[in-house]
Amino acid sequence: MRKKQFKAESKKLLDMMINSIYTHKEIFLRELISNASDAIDKLYFKSLTDDSVKTKKDEFKIRIDADKDNRTLTITDNGIGMTQEELEQNLGTIAKSGSLNFKKDNEGNEKLDDVEVIGQFGVGFYSSFMVADKVVVESKAFGSDTAYRWESEGADGYTISECDKADTGTVITLHLKEDTENDRYSDYLEEYRISELVKKYSDYIRYPIISQASHQAPDPEKEGEYITEIADETLNSMIPLWRKSKSEIKPEDYNEFYKQKFYDYTDPQLVIHTKTEGQATFDALMFIPENPPMDFYSKDYEKGLQLYSNGVMIMDKCPDLLPDYFSFVKGLVDSADLSLNISREMLQHDHQLKIIAKAIDKKIKSELTKMLKNDREKYEKFFSTFGVQLKWGVYADYGMNKDGLKDLIMFKSSNGGYTTLKEYVERMAESQDKIYYACGESEDKIALLPQCDAVKEKGYEILYFTDDVDEFAVQMLMNYDEKEFANICKDDLDLSTEAEKETINKKNEESKELLDKMKEILGDEVTAVKFSNKLGHHAVCLTAEGYVSMEMAKVLSQMPNGGNGIKAQLVLEINCDHQIADKLAQADEDTLAKYTKILYAQARLIAGLSIDNPTELSDSICDLMV
Ligand code: ADP
Repeated sequence: MRKKQFKAESKKLLDMMINSIYTHKEIFLRELISNASDAIDKLYFKSLTDDSVKTKKDEFKIRIDADKDNRTLTITDNGIGMTQEELEQNLGTIAKSGSLNFKKDNEGNEKLDDVEVIGQFGVGFYSSFMVADKVVVESKAFGSDTAYRWESEGADGYTISECDKADTGTVITLHLKEDTENDRYSDYLEEYRISELVKKYSDYIRYPIISQASHQAPDPEKEGEYITEIADETLNSMIPLWRKSKSEIKPEDYNEFYKQKFYDYTDPQLVIHTKTEGQATFDALMFIPENPPMDFYSKDYEKGLQLYSNGVMIMDKCPDLLPDYFSFVKGLVDSADLSLNISREMLQHDHQLKIIAKAIDKKIKSELTKMLKNDREKYEKFFSTFGVQLKWGVYADYGMNKDGLKDLIMFKSSNGGYTTLKEYVERMAESQDKIYYACGESEDKIALLPQCDAVKEKGYEILYFTDDVDEFAVQMLMNYDEKEFANICKDDLDLSTEAEKETINKKNEESKELLDKMKEILGDEVTAVKFSNKLGHHAVCLTAEGYVSMEMAKVLSQMPNGGNGIKAQLVLEINCDHQIADKLAQADEDTLAKYTKILYAQARLIAGLSIDNPTELSDSICDLMV
């Protein structure tokens, strides 16, 4: 028999194909199963109009058989089969897709809606050469009496000859390559591996994918003993949950699906199932996990949704479908509209994908808004787990997404519990024109800040910022409902009446000499020492001048570049109505130095800052005590 040659370009193409288009060898099985499913779809399509097709819908199936002794893997379908010409055309010409032609030929036929032909590039079949050094295709076309065998050992060429085959359909036999150190091709003969691959890539193929599986069963002859039974098993679940109508799906179905597919032990806290038609047509099924995924805070964590095209998985984590602030969302998108590239592994970064991503972003936001409105407790629980992500979302990308997120973020406040910015503004006192906040390690610690007293006395609520990102996020927002944000630990916090202001200014002028001396004692540590009337019964506090607050400076200093040495400009404020003010005025030089340093150290501790020399502080206090 004369061996036919692939055309020269084909040879090169085949080589390229085998070695570079696919990054995962395991996808060969997906490609062959998709082809088998296409072939069945074509025969089924024919059966809708042609009575001579005798196969009933429920008889269509795909079989996978492993033969360990001969190292062969066989994929069998009872689809439409191929004639001699078709074998030559479809398998002898690389990048020729009979399936694409089929779709083109039947364009406009409404019955085409009933089938879901997947193939379009005409290269998938050749991926079998990634794992096999010889591929044999035996096929009998529908309506034909003769069957043909196509055989090839790769780039060298192929032969076609007649063969015996009783039924219509195609049998593809892969002679697996020898194992190497890196590739254990013989794994593809193992039951667990076959079933894993079918589950992973082809779970929603609409025809049963059947393989032999061994089970332990009680021995009928010997009680208490077991025997291994071998039986056929359907590996795929066939109907994608997300394609079912919502009314058919029970909450448990969603939960089970989520846990199985995304390897979680806990039910998700929110399920979002949406069917969208219009600019882009797609089904999406998304979940917000109860807890952050194990590796969520590590740099290995990859965000993304699984992407399906017509029920076949083409990408495990498509990052472009989720914004960073929703990186905790798990799930999948199924769309027939995507323009896939040749390997189906990468998507062309097309317009369609952007439209889907935008719709998904909008959908998640609207579901969260709904939850916030209808189930406050549930939302607070969600927010305590993933809220920080949303706040980073406000801050990130120069605030590009802040408008869409500002009503989803919450803060703890002096009012007790969480509040949204909208709720805060609605509660604002008539005389209040700013949104007040204070930063600290915990709510309890913030509540103890001396600066809080005067603000609370006015009847103003204070937001408690305990996350690093909080202050950065509101700086990015700049204002909410035209109300500016004000840090109560900034020196320009202005709650005094004109009369009070006048008094304190006068006091500061009169005490200029004393205050200058104290500033000199503290050197560069502070930019000024001032008397203040906003401290209630507390003696001292620190405030920051200018744009950088103490908390921001702290966060920046923890960054890898140390925040480029950005520091807060500190002001030591002393309560002018406190007895300590008189003590300072009466102190001699030595005592004043001691007092000043002690007051400064105390103010730092109150602000949650560390002190450089605790020993000196302790010594000074002890000196005063004895
Ligand atoms: P694609 O599936 O993208 O069209 P392939 O290289 O996988 O490309 O297949 C080329 C063509 O070979 C298919 O379009 C189809 O016409 C034909 N073919 C492949 N496998 C089968 C099969 N099991 N039964 C019938 N025809 C098949």
